[in-house]
Amino acid sequence: MIDKLMVKILVLDDEPFMLKLLDRMLINLGFTSVSLCESGRAALDQLDGVGPRPNLILLDLNMPEMDGIEFVRHLVERNYADSLILISGEDERMLLTVEKLVQAHKINVLGHIKKPVKPEILSALLEKWAPSSLDSPKAQKVYGADEVRAAISKGELVNYYQPKVSVSTGQVAGVETLVRWRHPVHGIVLPDQFIGIAEANSLIDELTRVVLTNALAQAKAWQDAGLKLRVAVNVSMDSLASLDFLDFVTALTTKIGIPPQKIVLEVTESQLMGDARIPLEILTRLRLKRFRLSIDDFGTGHSSLAQLRDIPFEELKIDQGFVHRAWTVDTLRAIYDASLALARQLGMEVVAEGVEDQDDWNLLLSTGCDLAQGAFISRPMLAEDLPGWMNLWQKRVSSGFANDISR
Ligand code: C2E
Ligand code: CA
Ligand code: CA
Repeated sequence: MIDKLMVKILVLDDEPFMLKLLDRMLINLGFTSVSLCESGRAALDQLDGVGPRPNLILLDLNMPEMDGIEFVRHLVERNYADSLILISGEDERMLLTVEKLVQAHKINVLGHIKKPVKPEILSALLEKWAPSSLDSPKAQKVYGADEVRAAISKGELVNYYQPKVSVSTGQVAGVETLVRWRHPVHGIVLPDQFIGIAEANSLIDELTRVVLTNALAQAKAWQDAGLKLRVAVNVSMDSLASLDFLDFVTALTTKIGIPPQKIVLEVTESQLMGDARIPLEILTRLRLKRFRLSIDDFGTGHSSLAQLRDIPFEELKIDQGFVHRAWTVDTLRAIYDASLALARQLGMEVVAEGVEDQDDWNLLLSTGCDLAQGAFISRPMLAEDLPGWMNLWQKRVSSGFANDISR
């Protein structure tokens, strides 16, 4: 919860009328410490002056002297790391582009508001806001290769599992394994904070082996309990650069006693990719052995049409950046539709990632997407929580999500 009386908000817009309007809306929402600026220069003077900095800036993009994007550049120079809401009469696509641009500077964009501004939109954006400088969050720690190496060997990596469900029947088709580091001091550390380090320091092979070994043991336990689930594991192309990997996966699967058809390997291209021939050979041989191959993050720079041409994938995962809100944003919708059509033509099964709410789910349903994954269904969880979640999910499905609190 934020303390509205503590929060400082700066509003920057060249139209005095807009300033008054936004000021009034903010006051009605309980935010009392609001300062108004008619030009970028005035706002920067205020930032450079004494007194606390704003926790949130409402920024108009279209201003005559210094436009909104230029203002953001000055914010970055001043190490502003709090939140921003963009305001403009520009179209949705333009606003999304600017949003991405600002986010790349590590400024938290709460969202954008199209003019004319509606109070309920502003209120919804503010609702989900937790100002970083008030919360004093744990600074994102940068881990060293030695720490990651130690974590792997000390068994501090734990697998979480996120369900993939059939959109038409609601049936749970499988789970994706997502690794976390249970850090003795920092608690649960997410993969984005250590996968890159593992990749850059030749530790990714070892990490993948640990994750895979635990995931296959879990798959066997589910199989023995009568649960029919496919278990997916993320494999970066780096791990596919040595023939050992093939032998390792094959031997492990045989030893544990899981049919390879039940194992999905979600592949993304790595930045460090060298010679592509070896991964190509390994993937093709894995396919011959009946492992299921999935192209991950489809549509992003790391997953390309060339890969689709060269590798016998059976599953395509549309990246979450093209799924969430595709029902309302035309650009996303065009990419989502094209990816779906492409997969269909190639006879692949399609998974949409990042399904966050009922609207996202409805789009999948109406477009005939095969599988869904995302927070609307479930966040990643520990294996022990899966059976309980499956019961709840069945109830949600059979009630047509009628009792969802999010509705
Ligand atoms: P990914 O394979 O694209 O995995 C999906 C990520 O999206 C997961 O983040 C998941 O928690 C998150 N997610 C799930 N549903 C939603 C949703 O509805 N909305 C949003 N915004 N996000 C959602 P996570 O677990 O932090 O993993 C991040 C990435 O780390 C993964 O992206 C994957 O590339 C990598 N990763 C995770 N585990 C492993 C692993 O064992 N090996 C390798 N090589 N990479 C891994
Ligand atoms: Ca994945
Ligand atoms: Ca993905």
